[in-house]
Amino acid sequence: HLGDARASQIPRYVRVNTLLWSMEEAVDYFVARGYMQSGPFDEESNKGFAKDEHITNLLLFNPKVSFQDDPCYQMGKIILQDKASCFPAAVLNPPATLDAAVIDATAAPGNKTSHLSALMQNKGKVVSSLPKLPICAKSAACIQLFAFEKDKRRFSTLEMMLGKAKCKNIKAVNADFLATDPQDPELSKVTHILLDPSCSGSGIVNRLDYLLEQGPYPSLRESFHSSPYTPPEQESESEQEARLHKLASFQLMMINHAMKFPNVKRIVYSTCSIHAVENEHVVSEALKSDEATAGNFKLAPANQVLPQWPRRGLPEEMGDLTLAKCVVRCMPGDDKTNGFFVSCFIRDSEKRLDDT
Ligand code: SAM
Repeated sequence: HLGDARASQIPRYVRVNTLLWSMEEAVDYFVARGYMQSGPFDEESNKGFAKDEHITNLLLFNPKVSFQDDPCYQMGKIILQDKASCFPAAVLNPPATLDAAVIDATAAPGNKTSHLSALMQNKGKVVSSLPKLPICAKSAACIQLFAFEKDKRRFSTLEMMLGKAKCKNIKAVNADFLATDPQDPELSKVTHILLDPSCSGSGIVNRLDYLLEQGPYPSLRESFHSSPYTPPEQESESEQEARLHKLASFQLMMINHAMKFPNVKRIVYSTCSIHAVENEHVVSEALKSDEATAGNFKLAPANQVLPQWPRRGLPEEMGDLTLAKCVVRCMPGDDKTNGFFVSCFIRDSEKRLDDT
């Protein structure tokens, strides 16, 4: 982990939860509370804020500002989410139509899930056959977004976070994504999958300080601390290598499983790791896999993956300059975000099966 020195360079990011109010209403609210649209690093005061240039509905405040006690945070109207962690949902760009079907395969604590729900405008369709609807039980319109989470404790956090954000189009499922059947009649319709699996977390500079500072949710705090992927205090180089390779095999397995869904056309794979082993190497392996060949998957072109974001993948790790341009990296501190990696697989509709 990269220590907290650079955390002071990372703005306090605030994602406006558009399920509850608009960006304009949020801006008016903060202006009324004495903030000024002058940029987060305003020399004069800590009261400057700005709209983010890459992610819609994201605001930047001074890193020293805390929103834990702000009523709109308590009400779920704002979500404290690092900028880079907003990239995956933005790149997946799920449809906001009544017949959409989307999976968040590794959902807890749920920041990306609620972001997807907001992009889908909470839209859903009436589904009567599902036995258990933990999140949207009282809503007539629901189930557009399936959110899987394997860990029981983290699953309760997920439910709490989605409830707070007033997401109504989600079915949260406490289950292993790898155990799902891609041919299941409900899931086989899925067209978009977000995969943000467990990783080494080596890109995290400020270690989720928004949530850990003085957050009112002990279960959430605990669920972050109890991650089995946190490296031990003393780890030799070979132990680290073995740990990263183990994570990489799991990550590859998750991508390959996602590729088996018959109607999926867009899969976003992301990590908060800076290690190529979990990023470029996993993506290269996934492209060579039987599942990618069978499903005609390729990387989405650079112009579909945050084209305005300058830092792309590492060509020497990807083995190909054009492919490296299709994926996105964030350098902790330098990019005013945590370290992050995002890639997007799409089906190559021009490739006929007999070409392979
Ligand atoms: N996307 C989340 C967010 O932005 O709030 C963070 C996801 S975290 C990096 C990875 C999560 O995946 C963990 O909560 C972990 O318990 C869960 N997970 C790991 N393997 C899984 C599996 N096979 N099926 C479902 N969830 C899994």
